[in-house]
Amino acid sequence: MIITRQKEFNELLSLIKEGPVFIIGCSECATLCHTGGEEEVLSMMEDLKKKNIETTGWVILEPACHLLNDKRLLKQHKAEIDKAKKILVFACGNGAQTVSEIITDIDVIPGNDTLFLGEIKRASDFEKRCVMCGDCIQDLFEGVCPISRCPKSLLNGPCGGSIDGKCEVDKDIDCIWDIIYKRLKEKGQLDRLKKIREPKKWSKSTEMRRVL
Ligand code: SF4
Ligand code: SF4
Repeated sequence: MIITRQKEFNELLSLIKEGPVFIIGCSECATLCHTGGEEEVLSMMEDLKKKNIETTGWVILEPACHLLNDKRLLKQHKAEIDKAKKILVFACGNGAQTVSEIITDIDVIPGNDTLFLGEIKRASDFEKRCVMCGDCIQDLFEGVCPISRCPKSLLNGPCGGSIDGKCEVDKDIDCIWDIIYKRLKEKGQLDRLKKIREPKKWSKSTEMRRVL
């Protein structure tokens, strides 16, 4: 899932500057992240009202990154959109760009910051799992990804800083190299740690488009 964080309200106000505003949410990731579901969109309308910023309407796209669905749903809200001076989108960066591809004559403001591709640990608790490097090599590391889960992206770890299995950079996360070590130990394959991994090839990460 794409993990997003809603921008601070004061930052949003400085981006909006003046209304009226039409608000857009997303039925998928942003809803699960509580950054752009119906509840958050309606709550944002209330908060803007308290700041005397008028809203002309709202819609939850299904999902915001789906161009054809967006065209269909936004068409149904054309009258409300036409009255707005700003479009505020609570989706990921992709969803916000899909909207700005359709609505080109009104400023489109991203209401969320897009953080990473992650796992839902429990409600409102998300952990980074992938930075979409384009060449998955997690099989080399016991099925976990040190590129996205070690703050130093070490391919030859551990760095030596972990304490009680926790990362020295962020004590709230497990040291992923500690996990790799334990998995290899369990399999009796600690020897594999002696192999020095060459720097990763990043050439595949430049892929910009995919057609199926
Ligand atoms: S190796 Fe690359 S594609 Fe695979 S999980 Fe890590 S960042 Fe994602
Ligand atoms: S403590 Fe572990 S996870 Fe943290 S930076 Fe070092 S090797 Fe990476």
